Amino acid sequence: MRLILVLLLLLTAALILASFVTAEPPGANELGRIMILEYHKIDYPEERWTRTPENFRRDLETLYAGGYRLQSLSALVEGRITVPAGTTPVVLTFDDSSPGQFRYVEHNGQLEIDPKSGVGVLEDFIKEKPEFGRAATFFVLPGADPPNRFFNQPEHVTRKLRWLVEHGYELGNHTLWHANLGKYDEPVVRRQLADAQIWVQRHIPDYKFRTLALPHGVYPREVGWALSGSAKGTTYRHEAILMVAGGAAHSPFSTRFDPVHLPRIQALGQELTYWLTHFDKHPADRFVSDGDPTTVTFPKSLHDRLRPNLPQPLRVVERE
Ligand SMILES: [Zn+2]
Repeated sequence: MRLILVLLLLLTAALILASFVTAEPPGANELGRIMILEYHKIDYPEERWTRTPENFRRDLETLYAGGYRLQSLSALVEGRITVPAGTTPVVLTFDDSSPGQFRYVEHNGQLEIDPKSGVGVLEDFIKEKPEFGRAATFFVLPGADPPNRFFNQPEHVTRKLRWLVEHGYELGNHTLWHANLGKYDEPVVRRQLADAQIWVQRHIPDYKFRTLALPHGVYPREVGWALSGSAKGTTYRHEAILMVAGGAAHSPFSTRFDPVHLPRIQALGQELTYWLTHFDKHPADRFVSDGDPTTVTFPKSLHDRLRPNLPQPLRVVERE
């Protein structure tokens, strides 16, 4: 009798040990929400659509210290979450290709990225904290009037677009010249979307946009016009459509994930602070990575929130 008891105890101990060995990182919740931040101008002074380089730098520091790590928009849409265990992915987006987002300056006869431009601030920060990751999507305007046409240095357009793509950044469709897609009939909507891609391909042959940010957040009368199609001999296909507001996005593994209506957070002091505070107060609402892109880990209690059709084949791990 005593022997059986000892054996049972030993077995229990072994099971507990085994569960520790195979345990997923504590706290992983890959059904939580993710912030897609939306920047417009990086310039002076700080105002409704402008973030100063210093404040942008501060945002990056705050995000880093809060356990956020950069993830690309495509990776989010694909459900390929690669940030380390225990951290939370965050997506950066920049709309309208204004000059302060990416500027070249001459320094001792050499062309270099202006450290006061958005890309300069971001690259400097990444150099200091490589573990922050490197990713952002630039929703450019190829045919807008200056100063919003491709960051406003016509002589450097090709160099800039290639530099971005070669360094892991993404370009997104924002129409040819910021057209309000709700105002036009189908042929114009399709031409705006196709033309934007054609104009980018003059600099980077074969480059295909994967995502669209709606100018003014306005959908065309039929959403299908924006999702895929062809015009002027080119085809376009957008895996996600981004709005201009709406708060934090749902996990790509959640039943609530809606790539056709992806919400964003305008990264201006108050709204960003609001969401950072929200996740501090409600940690269960926050996406926390398990560090393994091939698994999706979440608390058992959220079982019903798992999408039946995951964006790619993944092993599901339900934790206590
Ligand atoms: Zn815009």
